Amino acid sequence: LAALTTVAALAATTACSQTRDDTSDSGSSSNLIGIAMPTRSLERWNNDGAHLDDLLKKAGYTTTLQYADNKVDQQITQLQNMINQNPKVLVVASIDGTALGPVLAKAASQKIKVIAYDRLINKTPDVDYYATFDNYQVGKLQGDFIVKQLGLDAGKGPFNLEPFAGSSDDNNAKFFFAGAWDVLKPYVDSGKLVIPSGKKLASDADWKNVSIDGWLSQKAQSEMDNRINSFYTGGKKVDVVLSPNDSLALGIEQSLESKGYKAGAGWPVITGQDADLANTKNILAGKQSMTVWKDTRTLGDQVAKMVDQIVKGQTVETNDTKTYDNEVKVVPAYLLPPVVVTKDDVKTKLVDSGFFTADKLGL
Ligand code: BGC
Repeated sequence: LAALTTVAALAATTACSQTRDDTSDSGSSSNLIGIAMPTRSLERWNNDGAHLDDLLKKAGYTTTLQYADNKVDQQITQLQNMINQNPKVLVVASIDGTALGPVLAKAASQKIKVIAYDRLINKTPDVDYYATFDNYQVGKLQGDFIVKQLGLDAGKGPFNLEPFAGSSDDNNAKFFFAGAWDVLKPYVDSGKLVIPSGKKLASDADWKNVSIDGWLSQKAQSEMDNRINSFYTGGKKVDVVLSPNDSLALGIEQSLESKGYKAGAGWPVITGQDADLANTKNILAGKQSMTVWKDTRTLGDQVAKMVDQIVKGQTVETNDTKTYDNEVKVVPAYLLPPVVVTKDDVKTKLVDSGFFTADKLGL
């Protein structure tokens, strides 16, 4: 009861300061924050949602947290229902970054502020802030890792590369690819990286030629199966795979395994992102070379802070006001730094920080 009373008191404080504070941005008098997440099928979004929900509740807010099964229409309906409850702020990790204009116009008409979470929302003026990890940097870290791991900078090569990109409706995917391709393209041009599947990637802008819609492991797996079946005949081997995230990497790793590749014996260099549990185990087992870890707890912390700043009418902290042009405006953003994790630092980075217990990883 004591705990409940404290939460209620906090909630009351937040609500009151809102009504009295006429510098506040929001028109709503409720204490509700809406959180829209894309899907439960990926580990990270479950962590993201649970952590942010928990932080906001502890700060005295009421929340509604919804997952949309990667279905755009479902996410729009969920947002509409949230807007009907007149929340103070909507936090939205979009599925299709270009599909939310009309529903967010409704939010804006009720003076509900919108924070784009992790993925930018495009083609609308009605997104107020963006919080994410530095998406270009994620790709750059993957590209740099490949260069170093293969010794490309020391003149080694040629190596057979298979490039992949993320879902074509996700604004992040082009940043991930651009970050990596800006590093790798010179080696493709000089012939040190060869793409046996012949995917056309004359510039970053061609990333949709290698994208895997829905970020699905299954699709990545069958695409990799096809490439191996068609282009890796006569003993030709895959040396390196640029995978933008862990869900794709998992499918690619399953494909390689089914085609007879063995960890520790010519297994290719494979990149990833997110530090999903299955991939972290694969890193320990020598089936994935690295992952770009984005500690979703820090993103949640930042977004909870931004929500509170909005509600209290304070200046909202951002650290990038140039990069994220959504085709209507440049959305002020807060970018967090992503971190490379390899086999050698799974323990120091992922376990010691409490992201995973040693138990979970079998350490
Ligand atoms: C996120 C990644 C995630 C991917 C698939 C991207 O927008 O930034 O962390 O792996 O979506 O859900």
